Amino acid sequence: MCIFCDIINGKIPSYKIYEDDYTYAFLDISNDANGHTLVIPKKHCENLLDVDVDTLNNVVKTIQKVTKHYVNNCGAKGVNILNANGKEAEQTVFHLHFHILPRFENDGFTVFPNLEKNKESLDKIQEKLKLN
Ligand code: 5GP
Ligand code: ZN
Repeated sequence: MCIFCDIINGKIPSYKIYEDDYTYAFLDISNDANGHTLVIPKKHCENLLDVDVDTLNNVVKTIQKVTKHYVNNCGAKGVNILNANGKEAEQTVFHLHFHILPRFENDGFTVFPNLEKNKESLDKIQEKLKLN
């Protein structure tokens, strides 16, 4: 059993924001960004690599519902959606989850890394990566 499964089944307490038959949204324990929320499917899967499309669809619907609520009713000016897949991508809990970070004017943080320019050309990168 994983810790997010234990949150869904109530063994671990959480600050619930929203729940339906397929998904659960709750406050991230870090309490860093104001309203930092996690959206998870009730059906266990690790991440985007193994989730089935119906489950993913339900999770995305909940992300949109909570996002609209935060912006339309709770004073957020926007949100960032973050998601990690795999240990190298900094995933620490291996139950699919999306972070919702409500954003406010002058909230003092940025989510996009300020990276150095890549040495490889876009031509080469496209050649390596393109799917069709
Ligand atoms: P990741 O690094 O895998 O993208 O995010 C995992 C998130 O889960 C972290 O932001 C962490 O604070 C949160 N987290 C870990 N354990 C718990 C917990 O027991 N309860 C809640 N609400 N959040 C947790
Ligand atoms: Zn789980």
